[in-house]
Amino acid sequence: MRTGRGPRRGGFRWKVPAERDLSSESRFRLPGAAGVCAALLPPEAGGPPSAELAAQVEAYAARLPAAARHGLRAGVAGVQALSVATTGRRLERLPVDRREAVLERLAARPETAHAVEGLKAMVLLVGGAHQRAAEMLAHAAATEPARPDPVLDVTASSGWPDSARADVVVIGSGAGGAMVARTLARAGASVVVLEEGRRYSVHEFRTRHPLDRFADLYRDAGATFALGRPPVALPLGRGVGGSTLVNSGTCYRPPSDVLERWRDQCGVKLADPPALAPYLDEVERTLDVASVPAAVMGRNGELLLAGAQRLGWTAAPLLRNAPGCGGCCQCAIGCPRNAKLGVHLNALPEACAAGARVVSEARVDRLVVDAGERPAWWPAGPTARGSSSVPAPWWSRPAPPRRLRCSAAAGSAHTRRWDATWPCTRRWGRPAASPTPWWRGRVCSRARRSRSSTAARGSSSRPPRPHRAWGR
Ligand SMILES: Cc1cc2nc3c(=O)[nH]c(=O)nc-3n(C[C@H](O)[C@H](O)[C@H](O)COP(=O)(O)OP(=O)(O)OC[C@H]3O[C@@H](n4cnc5c(N)ncnc54)[C@H](O)[C@@H]3O)c2cc1C
Ligand code: SF4
Repeated sequence: MRTGRGPRRGGFRWKVPAERDLSSESRFRLPGAAGVCAALLPPEAGGPPSAELAAQVEAYAARLPAAARHGLRAGVAGVQALSVATTGRRLERLPVDRREAVLERLAARPETAHAVEGLKAMVLLVGGAHQRAAEMLAHAAATEPARPDPVLDVTASSGWPDSARADVVVIGSGAGGAMVARTLARAGASVVVLEEGRRYSVHEFRTRHPLDRFADLYRDAGATFALGRPPVALPLGRGVGGSTLVNSGTCYRPPSDVLERWRDQCGVKLADPPALAPYLDEVERTLDVASVPAAVMGRNGELLLAGAQRLGWTAAPLLRNAPGCGGCCQCAIGCPRNAKLGVHLNALPEACAAGARVVSEARVDRLVVDAGERPAWWPAGPTARGSSSVPAPWWSRPAPPRRLRCSAAAGSAHTRRWDATWPCTRRWGRPAASPTPWWRGRVCSRARRSRSSTAARGSSSRPPRPHRAWGR
């Protein structure tokens, strides 16, 4: 298959948005945001000055896709309209309890509750990130990285040649793509990995503002949702290493009953548990999976284990791939210690050592089948195009762009067919004694009630507490 710059079809263009410093810049106006911020995190109850927080929310919102920005603007306008309709005043002009009453009224109605939750999530994310930024950065700087950044053969798409040939093009450099690239490169194929995001260094994870890291490392600055009732947030990592840059590093093998279902109902022969076991052994070796030490687990984990023991549940520290973890709880925005072994630290460098090349900032928008029968690739930016003995593109989990779904990939019976999500729920608890800050100690313990009912896990950092009853 050939990779290289191809014709821009249908007017689509490749563009890498310039990264902006969210902590200082705002280009998106969100009228009425200060009132909503004042209701959610009232300065009277210890929240930040509302105008300052609103400016920070605007700066973050500037990074969101247009649909999310429009929704946000409509949500804020709606809350303010309800405030005027029911009290005669905008939120910022109301005393704190009446502001809260307006939000409670909206949160009580099923048709507006999700919108209020969305506003709450954004304001608390931004407020929490700014409130804790200095502490987080100081914590990150206090210890040296467990390992340096490895050598990777990464070329930004702007520097990729006009045309190149490869046996295989892998789309996406995340957990799946990296392993595929490594396997094929080691088998002697010439491999090019096309990655929409860019490469990040551990230095950036140690020095950049938490909110900048969040906005950089996720597609659409974190605002990806599966739309439905209720809408479900579906964050997707974006960068060389994919979601393993931002995941928690929890490593469990698929349960055998799940594998058997895949084998028997979906026809995936490799899912046969004994057949798959050696491959899982190899993945665990690559990722260096081990039980979390007590010192890293911290008090939060201890409390979870103690609670599970009292309930008679099976409980143990989590299995993770983070040798050298210091428990700073920043996994979701890039590990500042290079402790969590995402594929950018193992499978990708190993793939590159075997000859694979990674093209970053190259989002594939379209697959094209040439006049011949063989598939071709047409990414935005450097185009990947050509023919191959590989019958279908290897496609990683995130939803392909719409253009791509309408092109050659749509012909594959497997495209988007086996997607599954693992929904998370949460329940807050406050220990009776020795309360522990939520952000100290990793999400590191696990308890389960029975084989079929699921794992309760420890705690993580959380944003500041919204105002009183309705926000819990
Ligand atoms: C916050 C978070 C926490 C998680 N925690 C855990 C955990 O603790 N344990 C666990 O087992 N799993 C966890 N996961 C899930 C796990 O990380 C993913 O299931 C896994 O990374 C998926 O691998 P993948 O290769 O399919 O996709 P990804 O790892 O998401 O990689 C896909 C890559 O493809 C790129 N890409 C997408 N579209 C295009 C395109 N059109 N052109 C070019 N490039 C493209 C993306 O930028 C991305 O880099 C977590 C996920 C998230 C988001
Ligand atoms: S808790 Fe996560 S971010 Fe912090 S050192 Fe451990 S792996 Fe890295």
